[in-house]
Amino acid sequence: MRKYRIWLAVLLSAVLAFGGCGGFGGSGENEQQFQEQAKGDTSDKKETPEDNGNSGEQEISGAGETQEGNNSSEAQESLEKQDSSGEQEAPAPPALNEETVVRSREEVVTTSSVNIRTAPSTDSEVYQTAARRTELIRTADDGTWSAVEIDGKEYYAASEYLRLKSEMADNGYLVVIDAGHQGKGNSEQEPIGPGASETKPKVASGTSGCVSGLNEYELTLMVSLKLQAELEARGYQVMMVRTSHDVNISNSERAAVANNAGADAFIRVHANGSDDSSENGILTICPTSANPYMGSLYTQCRSLSECVLDGAVNATGANKKYIWETDTMSGINWCTVPVTIVEMGFMTNPDEDSRMADDGYQSQLAAGIADGVDAYFGN
Ligand SMILES: [Zn+2]
Repeated sequence: MRKYRIWLAVLLSAVLAFGGCGGFGGSGENEQQFQEQAKGDTSDKKETPEDNGNSGEQEISGAGETQEGNNSSEAQESLEKQDSSGEQEAPAPPALNEETVVRSREEVVTTSSVNIRTAPSTDSEVYQTAARRTELIRTADDGTWSAVEIDGKEYYAASEYLRLKSEMADNGYLVVIDAGHQGKGNSEQEPIGPGASETKPKVASGTSGCVSGLNEYELTLMVSLKLQAELEARGYQVMMVRTSHDVNISNSERAAVANNAGADAFIRVHANGSDDSSENGILTICPTSANPYMGSLYTQCRSLSECVLDGAVNATGANKKYIWETDTMSGINWCTVPVTIVEMGFMTNPDEDSRMADDGYQSQLAAGIADGVDAYFGN
């Protein structure tokens, strides 16, 4: 409801929060980190659509377009039950499955980078790769492949990556995501909450992967970017506290980003570490009901923490630990909006560290956290 009129404040707060963040030069270490990130993005974009094709179903890899598509929904519906085998000259090119196809003209949006092909088969030529959130006209969908119209011609995309534009509409909720930590920790002190005499370092340096070698700040950004894409695909407005490692944003400043934006939920993404390498599993963190700084938000924070923990555990099959209620987290205590920290797993556990470094597992984590956000809002 208040989303649009707060955008100026959001912009201002972003400028304030990021304005003083140019302190670190790009070290060789950082450059390497950025390269790794870009590589992950590329393989993500190239591989996922390929992995989901119905290769087994199509034996012939002809590149021809089918002649079935037309734009009249009445005519299309009449074709629904028809067997198309008689309409095509041998050898038949790959075609939509006539048993399951639904022909209806509708506006769709891509939920990730998707290959647009000349035929409904992963063997067919890629006409172009559509960026995430590209709007297309769909004319038919057989459940696996969708026909889409581009420049008056019919092409094909994996249905899994298309969503109705009407379902993509802004659902009215703003989620702020904080990818925990940053390239270099900042040991300068700040109060752990408004008016507190106790102080903590502005940003701890975080843990690192015992097997993967990833730094926590790298892993948290990988998953946070996937979470951003997932939530946006579900209709949320999303604001990121950081999208690079080369920032210097204290925990209280991270809370301020969410506060100033008027976030409906603030998700802080972290990974855990322990002296006991056998310790594993997901936990979430929320304030206690007696929190002196923002205890009035306890019920919402507790609910958000429960939903996100359940969502992440259900999506990944990871060990469900517990919800840790504590008033020691500056980035929670400074919040005036519902907040949770999700500790996605232990980077000190060889198995869990390896899993968390895996692109597919990261996607499961992001989808699970998004499921939790959906559940929190009753979506
Ligand atoms: Zn952390």
